[in-house]
Amino acid sequence: METSPPPTSAERVSRWRWLWILPRLAFILFVGGVALLLWMSDRADKEERRATLISDILWLEQNLRFHLTRNEEVLGRIDAAHTVSAAAFESFARTVFGFESGLRQLIWLGADGAVRQAHPITMDPSLVGDAGEAVPSRQSFRLARSLGKPVYSRAYPYFTNDWQFEVHVPVSREGSVVGVAIGVYRIRDLLGDSVPWWLAERYRISVIGDSGKVLGTRSKVESAVTEDGYQVGFDPPGWGLALHAVPYHAPRPLASVLLSVSLVILAMIVLWSLWVLRRHVLRRQLAEEQLRQEHAFRKAMEDSLDTGMRARNLDGEIIYVNPAFCRMVGWSAMELIGRRPPMQYWAEDYLDETRDIHDRILAGQGPEEGFELKLKHRNGSVIDVLIHEAPLIDAHGQQSGWMGSMVDITERKLAEQRVRQQQDRLQSTARLVAMGEMASSIAHELNQPLAAISSYCTGAANLLRHQTPATAVLPALDKAVEQARRAAQVIRRIYSLARPSESRFEKVGLGERLDAALALMEADIRQNGIRISLELSRQAEVDGDPVLLEQALFNLLRNAIESMRETAPDQRQITIALTCAEGYASLTIADRGCGIEASVAAQLFDPLFTTKPEGMGMGLAICRSVVENHRGRLSFEANPEGGTVFRILLPMIPQ
Ligand code: ADP
Repeated sequence: METSPPPTSAERVSRWRWLWILPRLAFILFVGGVALLLWMSDRADKEERRATLISDILWLEQNLRFHLTRNEEVLGRIDAAHTVSAAAFESFARTVFGFESGLRQLIWLGADGAVRQAHPITMDPSLVGDAGEAVPSRQSFRLARSLGKPVYSRAYPYFTNDWQFEVHVPVSREGSVVGVAIGVYRIRDLLGDSVPWWLAERYRISVIGDSGKVLGTRSKVESAVTEDGYQVGFDPPGWGLALHAVPYHAPRPLASVLLSVSLVILAMIVLWSLWVLRRHVLRRQLAEEQLRQEHAFRKAMEDSLDTGMRARNLDGEIIYVNPAFCRMVGWSAMELIGRRPPMQYWAEDYLDETRDIHDRILAGQGPEEGFELKLKHRNGSVIDVLIHEAPLIDAHGQQSGWMGSMVDITERKLAEQRVRQQQDRLQSTARLVAMGEMASSIAHELNQPLAAISSYCTGAANLLRHQTPATAVLPALDKAVEQARRAAQVIRRIYSLARPSESRFEKVGLGERLDAALALMEADIRQNGIRISLELSRQAEVDGDPVLLEQALFNLLRNAIESMRETAPDQRQITIALTCAEGYASLTIADRGCGIEASVAAQLFDPLFTTKPEGMGMGLAICRSVVENHRGRLSFEANPEGGTVFRILLPMIPQ
């Protein structure tokens, strides 16, 4: 089966990108909703304005009609008294003009159509002259006279700009028309008088002729108008006239502008914060992914380790174990994590020691160089481990616990023990063989002279017993002396065989020899858990045999180690100091062992003197002979801290 390659971190991040559609959609909906709201509010506003416009213009139209009708009535009430004299007519006209009738001129025509009175005086040719029947005034006059009711004329221009129209009101007396009262309206003035100021503020009000021409306007100074006006018929006067109102462009209310602006700003802020949030989240996702990969990588590394890893918090509670650790102790991570001391893998026989080291570590006093410990596997077997503890530092640089690495050294320890036992066996066999050889050679070599001495002495004794002159005894005694000398010679030779005769002297650094001797003893030192404290002066150089000096140091170190068998493990320490003073190198080896009792002190350097069951008693004897052979001195004293201090003094090579 074909498997697809694992997704990369960028791919994994992009998988979540679709989630961003939601906020985007929400944002688009939000902006759309706001725009719709604004549009609807604008529309409602417009509709309301239009409704107001319609009702306003209808009201105006009604007002004008009322106005014109009232004027008709007033004109119809003109009586003979008013029409007789010019003064009476003028006063009547003034009264009519006085109440904002919108009339600009009043004319009184007789039934024949001649102008009898006019105020102001008219020069209109259509009325005063013979302008023919086609003139609107004339037509209207006839119509009014014949109908007997008010008739409005067509609108006609007056000078260049203005337009006006007339109302012809027939006046009857006792059933017959006596004249016609004409009221002249100038459209511009009519609008000026009848349109109230508040309406003029809002709209441009115009009167439009049937051809669409504007005949008069009531307007403020020229200001912008919107296109959509409203028009109603202007009847009376009729004749296709219409009232047209166009609203001025009213500034939008400040609150609505503020609302729109703040909504736009809000939308932009939302968009910006969305963008910032997205960038932040994407970065976070990427970091998380990298972290996950890093974690997986580290976990794979930790899982592949043979070294057990275990982390504890500052209270000693286990917070992490790796698979190698679980394998070593036989418990699963689930069973170990969260446990507090005593742990299930602590060996019962070493409980005190284990707890002690555990407490020391938590107190920050654990051995930095690591330590060996015995633990118990779940199956009951005891394992040897080498542990290194290091502080566990968190992301803020604070110590949050301890991380311990653990190596299983059970196999190594067993192998070392086997080698050591083998070496011990070999050594003791070699010693026995050497001793045996030495003993047989001594016996063999000394047997002859001793037998000879014995027989010479027996002979001499016999001679003396028979009162033989002393001179006769002398040759036998001389021979006995000679044999004794030979025996001494044999002993010297054996002695010279025992001590390395061909010692080659050379420049020897005592520090290096000590290092070499320590290296030889390393396994013993480690096994016995001994700490070595060194203070070495590397200038200490002597003229001597490196092998012999190393042997002497080896013997002293071995004695020091062996003397501490009964010492408590944490007290096991050897302090070695090498100093130079007054031409001598002084080397002290101080142990914290059993010490030397006064009763045995005198025989310590005697060959074959030993207090150890397996000892040979030759170590110190050889040491002293080596040191003295180098013109030095070997001594010992009690260590004030317990144990013994052995001191070697050797003359240094003059600088
Ligand atoms: P061996 O070690 O084989 O016994 P040595 O000549 O080296 O022979 O030592 C003689 C004796 O001196 C030892 O048996 C021991 O009693 C004593 N001795 C030597 N070194 C020390 C020491 N550092 N502390 C206590 N006793 C010691």
